[in-house]
Amino acid sequence: MKITFLGATGEVTGSCYLVHDTNIQFLVDCGMFQGHSEHKNDEPFPFTPSEIPYVILTHAHLDHSGRLPLLVKRGFKGKIITTPQTAELLRIMLLDAAHVQEEEIKRINKKRVRQGLPEIKPIYTTEDVEKVFPLVVPISYDNRYPLNEHVEIRFRDAGHILGAASVEIWDHMDNEKIVFSGDLGQIPNEVLHDPTLIEEADYVVMETTYGGRKHKSLEETRKEFRDAIVNGLKNGGNILIPSFAVERTQRILYELRLLWESGDLPKDVPIYLDSPLASKATEIYNEYKASYKPYIQKYFIDGDSPFDLPNLHIVESSQESKKLNDVSGAIIIAGSGMCTGGRILHHLKHNLWKPETTLIFVGYQAQGTLGRLIVDGAKIVKIFGEPVKVRAKVFTINGFSAHADRDDLLTWATFFKSKPYFILTHGEDDQRLAFAEFLKKRGYKVLIPQYKDSVVLKPDMPERYPVPVRKDATSEALKIISQIYGDLHELEDIIAEEGANPELIGILKSISTLVSSIKKE
Ligand SMILES: [Zn+2]
Ligand SMILES: [Zn+2]
Repeated sequence: MKITFLGATGEVTGSCYLVHDTNIQFLVDCGMFQGHSEHKNDEPFPFTPSEIPYVILTHAHLDHSGRLPLLVKRGFKGKIITTPQTAELLRIMLLDAAHVQEEEIKRINKKRVRQGLPEIKPIYTTEDVEKVFPLVVPISYDNRYPLNEHVEIRFRDAGHILGAASVEIWDHMDNEKIVFSGDLGQIPNEVLHDPTLIEEADYVVMETTYGGRKHKSLEETRKEFRDAIVNGLKNGGNILIPSFAVERTQRILYELRLLWESGDLPKDVPIYLDSPLASKATEIYNEYKASYKPYIQKYFIDGDSPFDLPNLHIVESSQESKKLNDVSGAIIIAGSGMCTGGRILHHLKHNLWKPETTLIFVGYQAQGTLGRLIVDGAKIVKIFGEPVKVRAKVFTINGFSAHADRDDLLTWATFFKSKPYFILTHGEDDQRLAFAEFLKKRGYKVLIPQYKDSVVLKPDMPERYPVPVRKDATSEALKIISQIYGDLHELEDIIAEEGANPELIGILKSISTLVSSIKKE
């Protein structure tokens, strides 16, 4: 078999692998690039979509599924094989993604028309998304499924989000077995079942999101979260939690539920779930009662839900959401998780400048996002084109991560009895390198592929490692710009109050000339 790496090389987004040999070709995942690699979404596929009979989808996150509508639009007519849970989550995720894109393009086109520029089109629409669903074939965990007379696959629980799977692929012709880890969850997992440990493989394509990092312990993480909530309520303002709709929101609801059960969260504190996508995802989470640890299942047996609280209000319409502008002393969970869009932006606009506000980040903030700017300590940020001061207390709590940390990844990797060859993907290069180091020390062969590399799998294929670590200059530049922006606004306040002198005007003029000359370059 041969694998061509069409995403998630040196980054965590855009997962897409073409697996091919003379008698079959198929994709594992067809994900969206996010953040700095977004421009790659529109590139032509280096294969003919109509000639691909299968996509094996590991889970519903957009960085694994988000280019499926584009694939179908460009001619794919095959089957999309995934778990039943992922099939359901996929529907709401893709429809939401199309909706977000359509709204974004509308906004951009309004500006372009005013500037006399031609309108642009989204890379796919809701209509394109609808064409994906009839192609989906759900296959449960642990069942073998033949792709042709030589190749069969099997999903194993990856413990990452509901329905997430690792994929075992047997090639009986070449007598070899490839395993794709998919995204792996923590070991042990607090809510979902633990990732399944697999014994046999010749080659393992493995994620390394946190290949070099350890999460804080559950006890520490819960203490951080409890303290942020308890102190936030004491301060009297709102507590904002930007949250990813699938998995993180349900986890946060469960953690709030525990705080309520222990009495740390008073019964009269209103909790608003202000994300239609997260509400729909929670409904799907409630359906698959057998997917959880026994102590979570117990809630369902008692006719309850671990993701529910007596004071939880589901906010549906945007009018209802706007009404929250006037509340205080509430907990508001809203998307998007990295503050790149969605209803959280309105809540930030109305609360971020108030010193009594608490803002709790519970997920990864990618470079170049508003969330990352705030986490990095920006004093002023732009929301809907308007400068807003950051006076809220900001907390970053990463321990509720849906991703395995370094030790979990090692536990999973070293369980294979057959000493497989590891191919590391889905991680920034420093993380891939760090994890490669651990594997090498234990005597494993490691390959670190680059974007669009094709690798013919052979037991004696040369190891490719290490790769140079790419420093991210863009994020550094954005951070500095945000600092300058904040400083200038503070200066604006000082000048408004105390007035300016001619010397200062001279300095400001020089800064202005410098900035415009950089722009021209
Ligand atoms: Zn994922
Ligand atoms: Zn991922």
